[in-house]
Amino acid sequence: MDQYAVFGHPIAHSQSPFIHQTFARQTGQSLEYRAILAPLGGFAETVHRFRAEGGQGGNVTLPFKEEAFALCDELTERARLAGAVNTLHWQSDGRLLGDNTDGAGMVSDLLQHGAAIEGKRVLIVGAGGAVRGVLEPVLACGPSEVVIANRTESKATVLAGDFSALGNIRGVGLDGIDGRFDLIINGTSASLSGELPPLPDGCLISGGITYDMAYGTKATPFQLWGEKQGGRINLSGLGMLVNQAAESFERWRGVRPETGPVKAALMARMEAKQ
Ligand code: NDP
Repeated sequence: MDQYAVFGHPIAHSQSPFIHQTFARQTGQSLEYRAILAPLGGFAETVHRFRAEGGQGGNVTLPFKEEAFALCDELTERARLAGAVNTLHWQSDGRLLGDNTDGAGMVSDLLQHGAAIEGKRVLIVGAGGAVRGVLEPVLACGPSEVVIANRTESKATVLAGDFSALGNIRGVGLDGIDGRFDLIINGTSASLSGELPPLPDGCLISGGITYDMAYGTKATPFQLWGEKQGGRINLSGLGMLVNQAAESFERWRGVRPETGPVKAALMARMEAKQ
């Protein structure tokens, strides 16, 4: 059977085996997908061993996305711009192709929920790896402006500079957020510790959209903030997680799984485990 895996450290918490095994059943694809704990300092060796044992492709999660980027023989344009790889795919000539499907996963989740990005003013809070990964797909939708706001302002301005050829984008500190936005994306890790980045009241238009890349079984502090600000749709990153997996699956197997039922099944599974 064709072999796939997700590599990370830690990895026991990963939902990727459940998601990909569900995709495989749904699409009638015969494959095995497992979680592999790669030792810190031993990522490349673990991936090479997996390939030698017949691996066809894989996913990469924290903290190895940059190491995966360096390991690949070829990169998609979006992976090159992200500076990180979350999808590995060995080609028929044996070369290892690296892709980054995180940003496309978030954008497709937004579009599936009826959110428009084209012509809209977008605020992205945070300037870490996850934000870098979504900038190309967001800018490709043609927003009127993207403002990156980060606690450490210099990281936001550097990141905006790196993507300035792709659209109207600038970086500011959290105290430099000005005007109102149609869409606000939280790409900080604040939700993971139950925190909310300090955002000015009224910076979301009435009926606007908020998106937290973090997810859990309960609404995150940022989703609750979005509701209070009058957001029409206030999403968590669960859909991003499932949709990035669907992008990887399609690359490996040439078939696009339906993500709606898998998002519902994943949420039910997470709730049952609590
Ligand atoms: P990084 O560690 O690379 O970046 C963290 C960012 O959050 C930095 O910009 C940091 O600011 C900011 N930050 C952290 N705490 C606070 C706070 N209390 N207030 C304001 N800003 C804060 O993390 P990642 O980019 O890898 O991940 C970011 C989020 O995206 C996480 O919640 C992660 O779970 C989520 N994610 C979700 C995915 C999905 O599929 N749904 C995929 C990938 C990531 P500073 O620079 O000043 O330190």
